[in-house]
Amino acid sequence: MAFFDLPDAPGVTELAWPTRVVLGPGALARLPRELERLEMDRPLVVTDAGVVRSGIAARVYDVLARADVSCARFEAVQPNPTDRDADAGLAAYRAAGCDGLVAVGGGSSIDAAKLVQLLVTHPPPLSRYDDAAGGDRFVTANLPPLVAIPTTAGTGSEVGRSGVATLPDTGRKTVIFSPHLMPRVAICDPQLTVDLPGPITAATGMDAFTHGLEAYCAAGFHPLADAVGLDAVRRVARSLPRAFRTPGNLAARTDMMIAAMEGAMAFQKGLGASHALAHALTPIAGLHHGLANAVVLPSVAEFVRSAAAPRLAAVAVAMGEGPGRSEEALAGAAVERIRALVRELGLPARLRDAGVREEDLPRIAAKAFEDASHRTSPRPCTEQDLLGIARAAW
Ligand SMILES: [Zn+2]
Repeated sequence: MAFFDLPDAPGVTELAWPTRVVLGPGALARLPRELERLEMDRPLVVTDAGVVRSGIAARVYDVLARADVSCARFEAVQPNPTDRDADAGLAAYRAAGCDGLVAVGGGSSIDAAKLVQLLVTHPPPLSRYDDAAGGDRFVTANLPPLVAIPTTAGTGSEVGRSGVATLPDTGRKTVIFSPHLMPRVAICDPQLTVDLPGPITAATGMDAFTHGLEAYCAAGFHPLADAVGLDAVRRVARSLPRAFRTPGNLAARTDMMIAAMEGAMAFQKGLGASHALAHALTPIAGLHHGLANAVVLPSVAEFVRSAAAPRLAAVAVAMGEGPGRSEEALAGAAVERIRALVRELGLPARLRDAGVREEDLPRIAAKAFEDASHRTSPRPCTEQDLLGIARAAW
């Protein structure tokens, strides 16, 4: 099917795009007004040591103090949150008599805040709400409000409905998923991202790119996710290299914040083999999530090329390739464009250059196969396929 043909009638489906977003340079100043709208008088600010060191937490406290909002602080979220972050955050919330949360940071801080928010009205353990075990049915609507202020342009957790934590009961990165976990408002201020180190700009940006691309190519019917996922690809391709080279470029930083939101909105449709492998590479080889996606994505695109040529052809055009060639040729050009983008951002081109050991590849493939992300891959993957992709990327 050419990508401009009409698909078959899809039957009955469900679509949702509900998050309120305040976007643009200076958006942080709107925080007090948003708290007032939510009738939040005593927020708990949830953040991590890196955000404190960067001075961004102090800017948030300053905006609150000037509006006479008294907040409590929990500044100890770990890079990959566990149940301990949620428990400690809950203790801080209770001790200070809070009535809502403000998450400031990347995916870790926002995810940790979602889990604290859940525990305020839901009994532990968190493993009870494990999405893989159908735990979403226990999550009810009576959660305190959450405002998300992202400080990276990557995960899109500010518009997402899941929180991820490594839990002792499950022994793995556990996804807790419910529409009720979605922040009530996301305040997306690109000024908060201009001081990000280049490698973090690159890696988080490639996470947003991978969300857009994998969602767009995923099996399943979600025309809104398709449109928005492809737009994320277009924005990252044009703006991530600019944001990387000239960190203070606010137009590029704004474009990346939009792309990050779009990527996360799109991946409710599904992801693919790149995320399955990334979810194994982080715990086994210690790779940053976005970096892991960036390194394996060209090999994943090569793997799905035969099954998703029309979609990859559209990706190539979104990345600046001229149309007017066969879909097969354009799909091949997409793979080359992705490789070139990774190179341009100074990221390692191969897993071996990122410090992954060859003897760990079978374990990585086995863990990736357990991950649900590859189930929506446009070309179905066996464990052997995932090992083949990992070897190609190595
Ligand atoms: Zn991701």
